[in-house]
Amino acid sequence: MPYTVALTGGIGSGKSTIASAFAALGVPVIDADVIARDVVEPGSPALQQIAERHGNSILTEEGMLNRARLRAIIFQSSEEKAWLNNLLHPLINARTQQLKAQTVAPYLLWVVPLLVENGLQYQADRVLVVDVDEETQLRRTIQRDGIDRLQAQNILSAQATRDARLAVADDVINNSGTPDEAVPQVAALHHRYLALAAAQQD
Ligand code: ADP
Repeated sequence: MPYTVALTGGIGSGKSTIASAFAALGVPVIDADVIARDVVEPGSPALQQIAERHGNSILTEEGMLNRARLRAIIFQSSEEKAWLNNLLHPLINARTQQLKAQTVAPYLLWVVPLLVENGLQYQADRVLVVDVDEETQLRRTIQRDGIDRLQAQNILSAQATRDARLAVADDVINNSGTPDEAVPQVAALHHRYLALAAAQQD
């Protein structure tokens, strides 16, 4: 299994942007959000179980999971939230391990937006936090998602704090500046991770 660098950061901090910069250097990227969607794709056993529990109204007309409806259900019921987590977490975990094991590279980047919230930092060899000041984070989220300031603030306050993320960081990319300022930070970390991965193999 390759050396695993977990990449995390708050909404709008620049995780996708930084992950693309690593990918451009040839680093394989595994995305926790993509895996979380894959395990409930149409035809999956997990989606079938969810539909059996909540009825077909939990599906869209196309047979996809209606995420907004499911979110509303688990927001109201901690029991349903626990049921869903018990169903999905082992599946997500197994799929993540499978993808990591299939990856052939000195190291891989595992993008996990909710790393701190879900206590997943222990499943990585190294934690890289994309850090921006809150004002920048709000501005970029508002602009990218076309939401208003209050909505963006609500999402932010439901996530781990900047300090909580920094507390688990081995490395930090400061993405408050221009994209050009992030690129050399990515290049330097890439070399560090290649060295750390090689040292772990010895
Ligand atoms: P995340 O994946 O953490 O939610 P994104 O990578 O999507 O964040 O970045 C949020 C928004 O900010 C995107 O629209 C992205 O293009 C923009 N962005 C990211 N980094 C920078 C930067 N250094 N300067 C300006 N805009 C940026």
